[in-house]
Amino acid sequence: MNITGSVLVTRKGEGRILRGHPWVFRSDVAKAKDALPGAVVRVENERGRPLGFALHSSRSEIRLRMIERGEALAEDWLGRRLQDALAWRERTFPGTPACRLVHGEGDLLPSLVVDRYADWLAIQTLSQGMEALKQEVVAILSERLRPRGILERNDPKVRSFEGLEPRVGLLYGEVPRRVPVRAGDLALEVDLWHGQKTGLFLDQRENHLMARGYTRGRVLDGFSYTGGFALQAAAVADTVLAVDLSADALDQLRDAAARNGLGGIETRDANVFDLLRAFDDAGERYDTVILDPPAFAKSKDAVEKAQRGYKEINLRALKILNPGGCLITCSCSYHVHEADFERILSAAAADAGAEVSVVERRSQARDHPVLLGVPETRYLKCFVLRKLA
Ligand code: SAH
Repeated sequence: MNITGSVLVTRKGEGRILRGHPWVFRSDVAKAKDALPGAVVRVENERGRPLGFALHSSRSEIRLRMIERGEALAEDWLGRRLQDALAWRERTFPGTPACRLVHGEGDLLPSLVVDRYADWLAIQTLSQGMEALKQEVVAILSERLRPRGILERNDPKVRSFEGLEPRVGLLYGEVPRRVPVRAGDLALEVDLWHGQKTGLFLDQRENHLMARGYTRGRVLDGFSYTGGFALQAAAVADTVLAVDLSADALDQLRDAAARNGLGGIETRDANVFDLLRAFDDAGERYDTVILDPPAFAKSKDAVEKAQRGYKEINLRALKILNPGGCLITCSCSYHVHEADFERILSAAAADAGAEVSVVERRSQARDHPVLLGVPETRYLKCFVLRKLA
């Protein structure tokens, strides 16, 4: 491993590192010495005390991402970290064909994502430093896992903050247009090339399965995408209405329903906000409602507007929900924290005149580990609410 240059951090930066945070922001860098874009650098405090090693970014607000603390960096740190992440998944989630193998910071592999879909992998290298290590990552993964193909899905917007081009392409072997994969007892076909994220919302994997247990009767799945929740719900519901603005996602949802012999699913290409309002006005009623919108607050500035959005859809959902039924409601906006989200839900319930109990407070699937002391790694909230009256 080539270590080139060093970066000296301010007291504030040092404090964050010592508290276990992997990021050092631009404003906490005191001095950079020979630190090239994307290099692995030594990290020191202003008096030259060694703090560890980090991936260096020349462009992003996040200048350093710590990969090791202390005075030495093992030659094979990357291989060891990958091995750790893979071995943990194999022990903890055996026989889970669609699963996140590496979740960036949560696996001490900052800005690296590796998702497995049966025999294929989709990866993301989201910083200059991880981009520079891409070929090494591919070599280790292909040797260790022997996949049939590895695709890079390097099209998230965050790459632009690093001055990196978007890129979707093959890194190893072959990846078909649709990859067959099982989710619980369903047979899915996933588009790794064009699907959202790397094809599926794997962070909701465990919530999809959990939702079945609370589902009954007439179900509305708002923001359904390819049916992560709707298909699981259809296995136990009388009818499911899946709503999304993406006609293509709804096509895939209907294909999957047919492939799995699931009847009673209807799809609608519509705006959930408008539809909920229309249903409320028309006195439509459902026994189960699921809401899994995209992140309404992508930045701190957008929080207020996002809160209004969350309140609106949850208020309408509680109004159209029959007493006794469950609302499964999610937010993946990191900037709207769990306590904020709970306050919003509580305000929505009050305005809807509903008495509501909290059945479960959930988060992202366990293959998306949260790093203690690093709130940025916990972004997904999923509440199961029951309307009592
Ligand atoms: N529940 C899905 C993931 C949903 S992702 C799963 O678990 O697999 C969010 C989805 O919301 C996207 O598919 C996007 O197309 C859709 N979407 C965004 N805004 C919308 C709106 N106003 N009305 C309906 N769908 C919307």
